[in-house]
Amino acid sequence: MASKAKKTARKAKTPVAKPAAKSRTKAKVAKAKPRRRAEGASAAAAGIARAAARSVRGAAKPAAGIAKPHVAKPGDPVRIGVLGGSGIYGMAGLKNTKWRKVATPWGDPSDELLFGTLGAAELVFLPRHGRGHVHSPSEVNYRANIDALKRVGCSDVISVSACGSFKEALAPGTFVIVDQFIDRTFMRQKSFFGTGLVAHVSAAHPVCCRLGDALEAAASEAGITAQRGGTYLCMEGPQFSTQAESFLYKSWGCDVIGMTNAPEAKLAREAELCYASVAMVTDYDCWHPDHDHVDVAAVIRVLLENAEKGQALVAKAVPHLQHRPGHCQKGCNHALDNALITAPERRDPALMRKLDAVAGRILRA
Ligand SMILES: [Zn+2]
Repeated sequence: MASKAKKTARKAKTPVAKPAAKSRTKAKVAKAKPRRRAEGASAAAAGIARAAARSVRGAAKPAAGIAKPHVAKPGDPVRIGVLGGSGIYGMAGLKNTKWRKVATPWGDPSDELLFGTLGAAELVFLPRHGRGHVHSPSEVNYRANIDALKRVGCSDVISVSACGSFKEALAPGTFVIVDQFIDRTFMRQKSFFGTGLVAHVSAAHPVCCRLGDALEAAASEAGITAQRGGTYLCMEGPQFSTQAESFLYKSWGCDVIGMTNAPEAKLAREAELCYASVAMVTDYDCWHPDHDHVDVAAVIRVLLENAEKGQALVAKAVPHLQHRPGHCQKGCNHALDNALITAPERRDPALMRKLDAVAGRILRA
């Protein structure tokens, strides 16, 4: 559903003239009043200007107890974030690994972040549901996860997730490099912005084609059957679809179904991160006449095989992403250039401080 721009402009209150005073004493007071009012008005204007200046400067400062956003220097290795879904709670092949807690102004991420190196790149892995799968899709703190990856200096984020399939040809074990979403979730925090700083970013093309190219090449090299492009229906869950829902989504032309990726992609776009999603098919949801009764053992077997292949895919994609993107051709890392709509003097300094990692580039400009 397309978002509607909210009209939030407030009208400044016009001072109301008071009736003229009749007595001498009152007349003196009355004469004095306009001056005081004028002085008051100019003092108020100056106050607003000072507050605006403070709030803009304050945007660069992180909230108390939160680490400053990492700023990469020229020549630094690329730092790639990986969000692992069901079945993926670590990343094979990572060297020099260390789990580190990362605090954010949006609360705690799903787990500590696993830092490591893979070839010439630095990887930061975050299990979306936490190690041991403790957070349901509705309860994952997506804002904290995306903020944490941005805060530690990731420029690219690759999501690998389990999904159901709506297409006969997308059999269990197939990967889909998603390029569109239909978002049917309704219990998530899906924006970093709001009252005090409103922003509208484009979500027309919600994933980064540069990362998609890397993943497509990696799938080919790893011998993984993968479809480039596909629409991911994001449902609220945690229950799976009813059959009526499954038929409906299939009739819409969706390719796969999952419970997590759409809010994540939107938040990554707001955070000016390049984001791509690999959906790994485990089953046919519940529309398929021959797969009506889900064989749990078979699903788990496919899930584990997919998890292994998903990690191999990421390892193969990394050499294609050796360089920091600079100015991403697709504009992901400049998504906020024309997105902030709230007037500078009306912006909320507290919210701006929370946005130090997500929107620091544009708020400091
Ligand atoms: Zn990009």
